[in-house]
Amino acid sequence: MPERIVIVEDEQDLLDSLEYSLRREGYQVRGATTGKAALELASQEPVPDLVLLDLMLPDISGVEVCRKLRAQERTAKVFVMMVTARAEEIDRVVGFEVGADDYVVKPFSTRELLLRIKAILRRGRGDDQPSEQVSFGRLRVDESAHRVWVDEQEVVLTALEFRLLTTLVERRGRAQTRDMLLQTVWGIEADITTRTVDTHVKRLREKLGPAGVYVETLRGVGYRFRSRPDEDTA
Ligand code: CA
Repeated sequence: MPERIVIVEDEQDLLDSLEYSLRREGYQVRGATTGKAALELASQEPVPDLVLLDLMLPDISGVEVCRKLRAQERTAKVFVMMVTARAEEIDRVVGFEVGADDYVVKPFSTRELLLRIKAILRRGRGDDQPSEQVSFGRLRVDESAHRVWVDEQEVVLTALEFRLLTTLVERRGRAQTRDMLLQTVWGIEADITTRTVDTHVKRLREKLGPAGVYVETLRGVGYRFRSRPDEDTA
């Protein structure tokens, strides 16, 4: 069954082009131009798999729409990808305060958007894909299922934190500057500051608990994931 996506976007041209692109990818798509219409659409059966949600809407803001979706039992688990033109909103939007699963910053490329949407939906589908697991000391990462364990306890990461972790793990043993991480993980010509990287690395380390030490700070350079779990160069 095709996955269902609701697009909420008040710029009609952009809405049309997004609908077209997502339909071409095989998704079942419905569009809304106001927050109110979006909430109505999202709560109709069958509930969508993902809501692509513009932050700035004419009636209620995307933030409010996201909160309402999270607050209603039927839509609480729907994936929300926020679309924002304001980079400074990102931390709040993806963080605990609002609870979006991921975001893209306008202007974004259709290709990037599709990749992000696919990654999120794959996480939701879980185990119908062959798993690609990486074990590293106390850490275990399942890339295809978007799941992470430390000492066999599952750690819940946001899509962004997951991308940050897998980028570091894939490039383990190699120094990663903040700019490199911004380009790969955030995928935008950074309007946001490199401090955002530090904030997210800090949060990721906290969530990883005892496995957080694998992410090392290279003073004046950036970050580096250890090449071996027992390596200690810090
Ligand atoms: Ca808008």
